[in-house]
Amino acid sequence: MRLTATLLLPLLVLTTAAARAEEARPGFDQCLTGLQSLAEERGVPATARDALKDVSPDPAVLPATKTQAEFVRPVWDYIDASVTPEKIATGQAKLAEWAEVLGRIEAAYGVNRHVLVAFWGVESGYGTVLDDPKIVRPVIPALATLACQDGSRATFWRDELLGALTILGQGDADRDRMTGSWAGAMGHTQFMPSAYLKHAVDFDGDGKRDIWRSVPDALASTANFLKSHSWRSGEGWGQEVVLPDGFDYRLADETTERTFSEWAALGLKPAGAKAFPDGAERRATLVVPVGMRGPAFLLEPNFKVILRYNTALAYALTVAHLSDRLAGGAAFARDWPRGDRMLTNDERTDLQTRLEALGHPTGGTDGKVGPKTRAAIRAFQSAHGLVPDGYAEVGLLEKVRAASPAP
Ligand code: CA
Repeated sequence: MRLTATLLLPLLVLTTAAARAEEARPGFDQCLTGLQSLAEERGVPATARDALKDVSPDPAVLPATKTQAEFVRPVWDYIDASVTPEKIATGQAKLAEWAEVLGRIEAAYGVNRHVLVAFWGVESGYGTVLDDPKIVRPVIPALATLACQDGSRATFWRDELLGALTILGQGDADRDRMTGSWAGAMGHTQFMPSAYLKHAVDFDGDGKRDIWRSVPDALASTANFLKSHSWRSGEGWGQEVVLPDGFDYRLADETTERTFSEWAALGLKPAGAKAFPDGAERRATLVVPVGMRGPAFLLEPNFKVILRYNTALAYALTVAHLSDRLAGGAAFARDWPRGDRMLTNDERTDLQTRLEALGHPTGGTDGKVGPKTRAAIRAFQSAHGLVPDGYAEVGLLEKVRAASPAP
């Protein structure tokens, strides 16, 4: 779910820093008292507020905030880890097992079953990790720790914690069952509490919105989330394309929408067997996630809806690609530049800082390369006679450093 790592990401650092939590205990208790008052002000019933009593800080969650794998690992690592032959085979078995329910969800929400099952696979391995205590933890202590100890986003975490308490108060889950990721993302398709309150549905008709134990509830909730964010029924996410020789990479700006006919007139062709959609009016943007040496994609509006679940391009491409593979589609035609060394976090921050200083705004210097940083790179590349493909790699960083004024 958005702003969080999914459950399946490697919890590289979750075992460290266990000692600090006890030292912070007095401040933590004071913080809990404040949260209880706030919960009361917001109308959370006393029975639910009791869940904050005797909560201890969860020492694993703060370190986890420092590593969001979809921003740190190369995009192909992320896709390779989640789109494996095993995951495709298991997903296809799930499609068969839940065919009747998925048919009813498609009819009710207009979201394609392969996309829903892809979210399920990426978010929780089709639910297999939900019973793993090494990965899944009680949500209230995790969110209380973040609300009290992650100063940079305390307000966000506090609101999610109050949301979790509200869910308890509504009786949809009890405290023991309410488990999730370190960031409080819950159930088969990893809803944050705020998303749960807005979008979770009871699809199996037992009176509870149980995204933890009911696959129909979880998948229909995800469909409802996507529909609420303007999923376009009958349309796909987009497709891989082949660019013509000598292509002007400034057109791959991730924002300018053109019809497929217009893209075809610019020389773009489908990379695989999937033809461009009929009906000349469907529009897409062009994205080259790792520049001219990797695959290129025309992305339709539904891809932006996938990004509402999690803002990382690598995440959304993974869900999109897994959905195609579940439907019998092929692997990407063009391989990734797998030999490339990834920039470290410090290097990416340095790159952003220098681009900003050179007059190319990156939308922040947090070490996370998103659309704004890629746009800044393209602007730098254009200004220096380079192919403007927006790819943050080692050679590019060297050129930016060379162009930077001496400190
Ligand atoms: Ca239910």
